[in-house]
Amino acid sequence: MLSFDNTEIAFRYKSNYDLSRARILFSTLANPGLVNVGKSLTYFALKMHLPVAWAIKPTLYKHFVGGETLEECEKTVKLLSKFNVKSILDYSVEGGKDQQTMQRTLDETLRSVIHAAKHPDIPFSVFKPTAFASQQVLTLASENTAIDDETANAIRFFKDSVEKLCKTAFENDIPIMIDAEDSWYQPFVDQVVTEMMEKYNKQKAIVYNTLQMYRTDRLEFLKESLRKAEAGNYYLGIKFVRGAYMEKERLRAAEKGYPSPIQPDKEATDRNYDAGIAFTIDHLDRISVFNGSHNEKSNRLLTELMTKKGLARNESRIWFSQLYGMSDHISFNLAEEGFNVTKYIPYGPVRNILPYLIRRAEENTSIAGQTGRELALLEQERIRRKKS
Ligand SMILES: Cc1cc2nc3c(=O)[nH]c(=O)nc-3n(C[C@H](O)[C@H](O)[C@H](O)COP(=O)(O)OP(=O)(O)OC[C@H]3O[C@@H](n4cnc5c(N)ncnc54)[C@H](O)[C@@H]3O)c2cc1C
Repeated sequence: MLSFDNTEIAFRYKSNYDLSRARILFSTLANPGLVNVGKSLTYFALKMHLPVAWAIKPTLYKHFVGGETLEECEKTVKLLSKFNVKSILDYSVEGGKDQQTMQRTLDETLRSVIHAAKHPDIPFSVFKPTAFASQQVLTLASENTAIDDETANAIRFFKDSVEKLCKTAFENDIPIMIDAEDSWYQPFVDQVVTEMMEKYNKQKAIVYNTLQMYRTDRLEFLKESLRKAEAGNYYLGIKFVRGAYMEKERLRAAEKGYPSPIQPDKEATDRNYDAGIAFTIDHLDRISVFNGSHNEKSNRLLTELMTKKGLARNESRIWFSQLYGMSDHISFNLAEEGFNVTKYIPYGPVRNILPYLIRRAEENTSIAGQTGRELALLEQERIRRKKS
């Protein structure tokens, strides 16, 4: 059975100094009270236009982010590639605001697609739907209700942006993934991404949709997507994740009085996730899979299914991925065993990346066992280095 326990492999890209910095960070994140105070202070500082970079940059930002620009990320990309771990550079400017910001984000994301296509250690490109339209616009588009001219223009900008990005990815032969966010505007995102797959996935998966398997309807959606792809004779690219917005989803459902779209408990999400992965492996002739997870069992399951099917470890239609700064024991041990592995590395200015950092801080506080696991592994490696 594949083991993720080898901390020497997991952390060999980290110096002793980096290792102790990571231990301090995860010890801090293990304290929910401290994380909450930090979050409130950060929001306050942002609202008052006070500088926040001095506190965030040497701590959370340095651990979870590649840099402010594509060029600044190069050092990290090179370092990871030494150990056969590839990178995905994600321009993480969240929440479409004014037109100028969205246009700048589009230009930068296009640059990141071309950069990835030229770079031997960057096998995918990626973007977030809300970088090119506000949540409100995407929600109106999903609800299919009457819209005014301004909303119609905003929807057109979104569709044009997605088309430009997917076309550039296709012409440069680099896969492109579209992240998933909130369920209430995902119908429109699914519709646009499906159109892109129909157009650009005729020979292989270039465009990848994201399925959040904490949603009760996603397994059926996956099966329906396959039926459509077979009927339309195109390939499916699927990025599997469990989903990062559970609390928000449940709260909105309760407030608005509709059934929660989220699985009733963690076990149900885990079962759904693994069922999705297993379904995909049975349909690899049509689906390429990207397994975005820090869950040891799900990662191991995928390796076992590959072995059972007699697939090569570096099978080009199967990728494993973890976020930069998390679960190195999974990434580096998988890469050491010859599987295709990437780290998702966000980049961008400190201020713009704060929502992502706050999510990582909360995730590492709230997920039972996650911070404990990171800390225990870091400690294990510290002791091992001291002894050797
Ligand atoms: C490469 C990569 C890309 C990602 N891209 C996206 C993206 O586009 N969109 C997105 O939303 N997220 C994305 N994420 C984050 C992801 O959705 C998860 O939040 C995160 O990875 C934790 O899930 P896990 O599979 O690693 O494992 P685990 O730590 O085993 O699972 C934690 C997850 O289980 C689910 N869960 C926990 N408790 C419950 C409960 N009580 N009831 C039901 N479900 C529960 C939640 O989804 C929670 O995040 C990405 C993650 C990675 C690694």
